[in-house]
Amino acid sequence: MSENLLSNHFDALEDIRWNSEKCVRCNMCKFPPLAQVKSQAHSIGCPSYEHFKFNANSGGGMVIMANSLLAGRSGVSETVRNVAYGCTLCGLCDVSCKFNTDIEVLETLFLLRHRIFCEGQIFDAHRQSLDCIRAHGHPLTHLAGAERHVEARRGQPRADTLVWIGPHFSFDPAHAAWLDQMLDLLERGGVKYQLLREREPYTGRAALEIGDRDLFGRQSPAVADAVHASGAKQIIALSAEDYSTLRSQTPKFAAIDVPVSHVSEIYARLLAKRRLRPEQPTDNARMAWHDPCYLGRLAGRHEPWRGKQEKVGGIKIYDPPRPIDYGSGGVYDPPRQVRMQLNRQPLLEFDRHHEFAFNAGETGQALSVMPEFAADTASRRVQEARDCGIDTIVTECPQAYASLRAAADNVAGVEVRTLTELLDRSLQRRSS
Ligand code: SF4
Ligand code: SF4
Repeated sequence: MSENLLSNHFDALEDIRWNSEKCVRCNMCKFPPLAQVKSQAHSIGCPSYEHFKFNANSGGGMVIMANSLLAGRSGVSETVRNVAYGCTLCGLCDVSCKFNTDIEVLETLFLLRHRIFCEGQIFDAHRQSLDCIRAHGHPLTHLAGAERHVEARRGQPRADTLVWIGPHFSFDPAHAAWLDQMLDLLERGGVKYQLLREREPYTGRAALEIGDRDLFGRQSPAVADAVHASGAKQIIALSAEDYSTLRSQTPKFAAIDVPVSHVSEIYARLLAKRRLRPEQPTDNARMAWHDPCYLGRLAGRHEPWRGKQEKVGGIKIYDPPRPIDYGSGGVYDPPRQVRMQLNRQPLLEFDRHHEFAFNAGETGQALSVMPEFAADTASRRVQEARDCGIDTIVTECPQAYASLRAAADNVAGVEVRTLTELLDRSLQRRSS
């Protein structure tokens, strides 16, 4: 970084100190902004604070912890590690804090983990995920050595659209049917697409979340090179995690110069153009869309910035204006538009929705090291559905779907469906 210029690309805690030291310990990052709170039962937005109940387990708590490390007042201990990884990196704290400030809370949490990684203090399970990325090209240790199960007949070489499948859909047999349905729907809608198959690199998101920024930094150019070599003019990401990473994280390390869409956006476009024509809605389920964090507030497009902070008339300003990610740059309306075409009920919402949605425990690599915390977070989301009179949670993220499905097994009267499954079912009924 140039000596006089600030940047919104941070490589280490030291880089973000000028920003993180603005924390005034107001605690607002534990909650959605007051005007967004719909009920006392769902007034907390931070899964970590909700589960562990300590101030340290919150965005502000970890910012203070990071500042303390930077000032040399404390060091990396087992407690610091447990707090830093007992968090889903869901970003609610970041969005809530930015209601009143411009503090990059989430970046600070990523960099706190990087500091812990650099000091060799990460969990063994995370070390195994990193080894799996290096050995097998993905972080799914339980599927190490698995074959990709996408069918040979799929895709057309050099098509303008590149479908990015990602490891969860490529390797996990539990999602094989879902992958087939997605590709079927795209083909029925007339989308001509290519697949990279073995040439599709892993984005490296797990490495970034664990704190191995060097590994993520090596994956990013491989991703950008693969996109460039494909000659594609647009990318459709099937997985919410990949959508988030390709838009918000990879570009910090390597430019991707083609637009990235999520498959739910494509469904909405195909329906609007009547290239997919579902039957008249007959479904009376009380459905609501669960905003996966990777598809929502974690998916804003990265905007590079370099500039100065100056005082004008006693007020600090940035020159040029610094882009702030308020969490509104993700995919919110298209899946709701699709759902409205499949269901007769009016649009229902969780109490916490859009950029203030409560996480489902699937993000941030928490599941492998703190499964009770991750499961408790998913259970709270399912309970929220029940409290809001929702009997069918609809989502389109393989990790959120798996977490919510497992939690819904213990809550009577709530089921979890994918948007793809509902759309496919409606089209099947129309053509039968
Ligand atoms: S991180 Fe932001 S919202 Fe949280 S305590 Fe600090 S200033 Fe307040
Ligand atoms: S990222 Fe999510 S879980 Fe972690 S501190 Fe912020 S709100 Fe809490």
